Amino acid sequence: MKQGNLILLQRAILNLLIFLLMSNLTFGQSVADLIDAVSKEGILANLRAFSGEDSTTVSGNKVIIQHRVSSKNNDLAAAYLKEQLSSRGLSVNEISFGTNGRNIVAKQLGSVNPANIHIICAHYDSVNDHGADDNASGTVAVLEAARILSQYNFENTIIYALWDEEEIGLKGSKDYAQKASNSNENILSVLNMDMMAYDSDNDHQFDIDVRDIANSYEIRDELINLVSTYNLDLKSKVVDPGTPDSDHFSFWNVGYSAILLGEAWSVNDITPGYHTANDRISLINMDYYFEMVKLSVGYIASNGILKSSSIPELLDTSKVIIFPNPSSNSLNIDLGVSIKGNVSIINIAGIKVQLAKVDGQYIQLEIGDLLSGTYYIKIDNEEGTSSTFEFSKN
Ligand SMILES: [Zn+2]
Repeated sequence: MKQGNLILLQRAILNLLIFLLMSNLTFGQSVADLIDAVSKEGILANLRAFSGEDSTTVSGNKVIIQHRVSSKNNDLAAAYLKEQLSSRGLSVNEISFGTNGRNIVAKQLGSVNPANIHIICAHYDSVNDHGADDNASGTVAVLEAARILSQYNFENTIIYALWDEEEIGLKGSKDYAQKASNSNENILSVLNMDMMAYDSDNDHQFDIDVRDIANSYEIRDELINLVSTYNLDLKSKVVDPGTPDSDHFSFWNVGYSAILLGEAWSVNDITPGYHTANDRISLINMDYYFEMVKLSVGYIASNGILKSSSIPELLDTSKVIIFPNPSSNSLNIDLGVSIKGNVSIINIAGIKVQLAKVDGQYIQLEIGDLLSGTYYIKIDNEEGTSSTFEFSKN
């Protein structure tokens, strides 16, 4: 080999090394990194605030969330959740049902397959004062997942849901699951967490409540695998047929894949404060709870699927303006930047229903022929693809 070629080869290798190093630094986030991001101090502080041990701030006012009993008005708890989720830049919806019920639901739209939905959820209402284990523990796990995952781009849609009126008949989740089923939403999995922070004998055992409905067994298997893959200090126990007494049951009822993740009811290792005002932070096993939150974050992060950094992002979807939205005939889109490429409209089942071209910053789409419902738009060309954005057809 001649000297000149050798130098070229050395340069090429050096460039390759620099490239690998940079891509690792910039794009190397993995599920393990997201699990590592769970903050023990953070979840403890949030658990104390949401179970009324410490004061906190809601709408700029110093408050104590003493209880979350739906019949005694749990507005404060709902407002706290909305504020926490909005502060992560997520779009948050307060969905009312029945007379006083209201679910708090935040959506992180998938950038590649927006119609594929994974839900991480917990009920936030309580039977009595405090309710640290039942179910501030599950609620805070959802908030922690939202805090961490909202900083990343996922291929699938992730929904962070906090149900109201679970304690008086699973009302919030029933309302949501029924509506989702009616509009054929493609919910691939539901991870429900209810009472996940009590472990008196410190054996770190937890229950996975499952039934042979849709692909619920896959969720069970994934949870068991996550424990070993990421060396979590937990021991799983499968309960089949699982309990009907929490929100996952509402999803089973309409044929969706779901499981319950919680402390070990199967061996009766449950909080002695159950449904009383003694369900307080002092009974919580923080080491156990920390591992349980890591498991739930690992589950939703791996199912969301971190978007590969090898596909260049064509535009900043936060700058996209759609009007009017909802619309019944013409949809105008300002992309915020000039692009030449293809525009796809994808329906709620993930099927491409319309194709158009764009050459410039503005698009006008005729959508009069589409059925009413939720749709997603994606733009691509030879250089890359955009993340998806959403609109409603009246
Ligand atoms: Zn509960």
